[in-house]
Amino acid sequence: MSLLVQKYGGTSVGSVERIQAVAERVEAARVAGHSIVVVVSAMSGETDRLLNLARAIKNPPPSRELDAVLATGEQVTIGLLAMALLARGVDAVSYTGGQVRILTDSAFNKARILDIDASNVHTELKAGKVVVIAGFQGIDDQGNVTTLGRGGSDTTAVAMAAALKADECQIYTDVDGVYTTDPRIVPEARRLDRITYEEMLEMASLGAKVLQIRSVEFASKYQVTLRVLSSFVDGPGTLITTEENIMEAALISGVTLNRDEAKLTIVGVPDRPGVASTILGPIADANIEVDMIVQNSGADGAADFTFTVHRNEYDQALAICQQTNLEMKARAVQGDKRIVKVSIVGVGMRSHAGIASRTFRALAAEGINIQMISTSEIKISVVIDEKYGELAVRTLHAEFGLAEQV
Ligand code: ADP
Ligand code: ASP
Ligand code: MG
Repeated sequence: MSLLVQKYGGTSVGSVERIQAVAERVEAARVAGHSIVVVVSAMSGETDRLLNLARAIKNPPPSRELDAVLATGEQVTIGLLAMALLARGVDAVSYTGGQVRILTDSAFNKARILDIDASNVHTELKAGKVVVIAGFQGIDDQGNVTTLGRGGSDTTAVAMAAALKADECQIYTDVDGVYTTDPRIVPEARRLDRITYEEMLEMASLGAKVLQIRSVEFASKYQVTLRVLSSFVDGPGTLITTEENIMEAALISGVTLNRDEAKLTIVGVPDRPGVASTILGPIADANIEVDMIVQNSGADGAADFTFTVHRNEYDQALAICQQTNLEMKARAVQGDKRIVKVSIVGVGMRSHAGIASRTFRALAAEGINIQMISTSEIKISVVIDEKYGELAVRTLHAEFGLAEQV
């Protein structure tokens, strides 16, 4: 008998019928003899609806109060699922994040889990109950309700699995695993049987929203056995695991598209030491995360300095850059929201040369202009015009033969 943490995302609990179907799945696992902790998201569309309600009152909403509103979505689904289980004769009990005591910091809207006191959950499990826990939410040391950032229920599930030393954490969603790219963009995309934590971390941070980045960080740190599965059809799903457990690493495992970034350039910056810190210092002070950075010096002693930020923080970053531009006596600030970042990821890249040149050649053949490039040991990312985003994903997916079984 094993202990499983099962997480069901928004579409999987999107209606009364879907909640009944989840209850059926949980019951089957109980009948098979497993102890089950379930983590649920809000019903699909609900978190957006709550966010819009808050924005209609005050935009941007005050962050503490926003969490008070957003956390309600998951409180509905825990109650409903626990009821559906009880109705089937499966003993079950619902818990909010605060009732479990999922302790987070006080960074409202993007809180980090600091500690989980799993003793209540252990007691309920020992009594033979299924424990249904609200994803995406916690409580800080002052008792304030916090939320973990969009997609945060994945992180609740993995953190619970780590705290309970569960045998496996199963992420049930609307696709039957992690694919070589988003199957909504490339229908030929192939399900991966296995992927390393490291590759999954890159894919999640580069735009594959199938798992929240922090959930993969947790899984890797605490060596949680993590599997992505469909709540609609049965199948083996995708196992996220260590590199030793993968017989032969693929050259490229996946292609991602990130539509959440925007680009800022300060043109004609004096080319002298300290420029990067003068520009990025105030951005960091405003708690804005910078992703890609490119600086190129021209022959005239001036440089152009370009970087990307999350689109949500673009307006704020633009205002800061305009101020810096005046102070530095640079020439101008240019901003562009109509960009996307396309990336290829694979641990096989470490031992193969020529991947970058193949990538650039394939994009050039489609007439796609590359505006920025960044690389690491296992990924290559390019920033391009957003209108070519999906074409670039399809082009690279085909170039590296990802649809074919390896
Ligand atoms: P949930 O509500 O269950 O958390 P999400 O919408 O957060 O589900 O994540 C599942 C979605 O992630 C899929 O419907 C799919 O469109 C998208 N996705 C993006 N990239 C990938 C990928 N590489 N493999 C699988 N799904 C992906
Ligand atoms: N309901 C939250 C969201 O929509 C958390 C989650 O679904 O994981 O982002
Ligand atoms: Mg999700």
